[in-house]
Amino acid sequence: MTIAFHTLGCKLNFAETSHLQRQFEKAGFDIVDYHQRADIYVINTCTVTAVAEKKCRTVIRQAVTQNPDAVVAVIGCFAQNDAAQIARISGVDIILGNDRKHLLPELLANQGYAPTGRQTIDTQEPHTFQLSYSGGDRTRTFFKIQDGCDYFCSYCAIPFARGRSRSATIAETVAMAKEIASTGTREVVLTGVNTGTFGKAHGEEFVELLRRLDDIEGILRYRISSIEPNLITDEIIDFVATSRAFLPHFHIPLQAGSDKVLKLMRRRYDTALYASRLAHIKADMPDACIAADVITGFNGEDDDTFAQSKAFIDSLPISYLHVFPYSDRPNTAALKMPDKVPVPVRKARSLELHALSNHKRHAFIESQMGKERKVLWEHSRHQGETGDTMQGWTDNYIRLQRPFDMTVAGTITPFRVENSTIVDNFACDE
Ligand code: SF4
Repeated sequence: MTIAFHTLGCKLNFAETSHLQRQFEKAGFDIVDYHQRADIYVINTCTVTAVAEKKCRTVIRQAVTQNPDAVVAVIGCFAQNDAAQIARISGVDIILGNDRKHLLPELLANQGYAPTGRQTIDTQEPHTFQLSYSGGDRTRTFFKIQDGCDYFCSYCAIPFARGRSRSATIAETVAMAKEIASTGTREVVLTGVNTGTFGKAHGEEFVELLRRLDDIEGILRYRISSIEPNLITDEIIDFVATSRAFLPHFHIPLQAGSDKVLKLMRRRYDTALYASRLAHIKADMPDACIAADVITGFNGEDDDTFAQSKAFIDSLPISYLHVFPYSDRPNTAALKMPDKVPVPVRKARSLELHALSNHKRHAFIESQMGKERKVLWEHSRHQGETGDTMQGWTDNYIRLQRPFDMTVAGTITPFRVENSTIVDNFACDE
């Protein structure tokens, strides 16, 4: 039997899809490309913006058209938050929210891997947790160590889609990291919704997990995918700076460079705290790459506030930005807030910050020119102008290339950052 997967959204979704995919592989299924005819289609969805939801609907319809007799299962965040909307798409057989999606193999087996003629919908509030990691890349994996969030920032629908913060214990997480090490994967990206809250339910500390992971033989590198400014403590920064395998690469969401807007967003820090975290990182690790998320046009962000926000971002040692125009999400506190910013203004401000991001990225890469950084070389072969090349990321997240040599694939070697070795100045966008 054939099964095809399609994943939308974040790294967490990719890790979860891979986990499911491995289970079906073990059960003897042939995994086929999503654009091919399959007996079963699984779509792991995203609800982060209205645009993401529209993409999900398109992908679901594609699956139904490709094989009207297939079982079509829609799982994940959009399924969790708006099952009714998905149920109206004809041809959808199964809708499982985030608490139930791991039960898909069992559910499909019980119905003989065939459509039953009636829809199964289960979107109970998420409270379970499964460790999982992404596959398909021999060099790097996204390891889901935490799920959910208790913060309820006023603009964010994630706590409704993914439930409260939860994780496995340190012992369980380390055991799965050892399993990852045994697959030969060299780099592990620690992924979660609010990663820094790892361990809360078990009375364990995130920094202690980092210490234990650092001791695992075989894993050569770790990155922390994203961590809230109020949770990246001095202890964590000092640990990363002196650890064996944690890299000088940080992703610290800022969202707004104005204390007034941060308060309206119900974020748990102010600009002074954010600036102090970055100053500490740069004092310990001057070559660190630091990425930040920013939302433009949040309610109450007038022209002066935006100008202030932009000036603050410009003043920070940020290497690049992920910029999103604000979009109203169902159930959130921000939905009912006054002082909405017109959508064209949100978009125009987003373009302004994209330009600032490009400027910062150039400046960061310029600061690394001529330096030797450690690169983990990937296995894939690329066609270059003067022959085949291979690519890899530096520890501080610059994409470099060199002539292809199979013997260095999967290894880390020092390599110089130069105009001729940089894949592309904008390559550190994820
Ligand atoms: S910290 Fe805020 S923005 Fe991040 S997932 Fe939690 S509620 Fe959403």
